Amino acid sequence: MVIIMNPDATRENIENVVEVIENAGLEAKVMEGTQQKIVGVIGDKTKLGQTPFGAMDGVEKSVEISKSYKLASREFHPKSTVVDVDGVKIGDGNFVVMAGPCAVESREQLFEAADIAKKGGAQMLRGGAYKPRTSPYSFQGLGEEGLKYLAEAKERTGLKIVTEVTEVETVEQVAYYSDLLQIGARNMQNFRLLKEAGRCNKPIMLKRGISATLNEWLNAAEYIMNEGNQNVILCERGIRTYETYTRNTLDLSAVPAVKHLSHLPIVIDPSHGTGKWRMVKPMAFAAVASGCDGLIMEMHPNPAKALSDGAQSLTPENYLSLMDGVKKIHSFLEDEGLLLKTV
Ligand code: PEP
Ligand code: MN
Repeated sequence: MVIIMNPDATRENIENVVEVIENAGLEAKVMEGTQQKIVGVIGDKTKLGQTPFGAMDGVEKSVEISKSYKLASREFHPKSTVVDVDGVKIGDGNFVVMAGPCAVESREQLFEAADIAKKGGAQMLRGGAYKPRTSPYSFQGLGEEGLKYLAEAKERTGLKIVTEVTEVETVEQVAYYSDLLQIGARNMQNFRLLKEAGRCNKPIMLKRGISATLNEWLNAAEYIMNEGNQNVILCERGIRTYETYTRNTLDLSAVPAVKHLSHLPIVIDPSHGTGKWRMVKPMAFAAVASGCDGLIMEMHPNPAKALSDGAQSLTPENYLSLMDGVKKIHSFLEDEGLLLKTV
């Protein structure tokens, strides 16, 4: 952290700042140029707590140099994290696909989707039992009944289960039936939920908030990790911009950025990222080339009849053709040595 002083700051102003820093057991380094005077803080700045330097006489502002998230940061943990989802490893260079309907609607619908997901080569089945819908009148999910169908679908296919948890009260229940707990975009900064997820013994997939910066997203991951759960997978699912043609703007640049800033694996959701099934395949292909660790996509046996997100859901046929392309692109990039190497 550095404290930038006003050009007209007095010697006394600077000494006061130095005193606060030294009283916290840290070292202060005063640098005086012809125009600017700054005070550098050396040491663990958490010892300073929330000291409001900006309120002190002669101070222009304080600027953070190191990241506020530590556990999620690559700076403090250079080696990439590999998350083990009941035997499926994410972040070790393999490409992991999670596919299935937006919502679990019935046993038949889910089993049909699961069989197709498996046929295409996905390793995980997605499906929401608790649905955070924009409108309270939309289908809200089957709740525990849906979770039971997911667990049955796992027994039937061997696919690992990823499903969303929306409330602190159901974390334990969702963890009981599934292998990977999804925290959705709308709950990215639900700090009580993040902390509860951090205390559960299953890995967490944390989706990027609808308008979240990378810094806010990684700090949200920090909340989970700070409670003891280091098994966090990030999911870029598009952010809100001024564009209205697509449901969201898929920020594929988040992949190299997150890989640089953090050691956590990152997957791409081209379904919510675009809101249009036609755009899912090209974005999935681009996601593979971006160096991400996998995809999560919506696929429905009959999208026209889907109770949620039908417009962005792939038909079985489109899903199978997409998976064929994803596998080819991934092995081509791998063979040519073009995939980002895991550190
Ligand atoms: C979902 O995965 O169905 C979902 C609601 O996603 P998001 O939180 O990204 O909107
Ligand atoms: Mn959805």
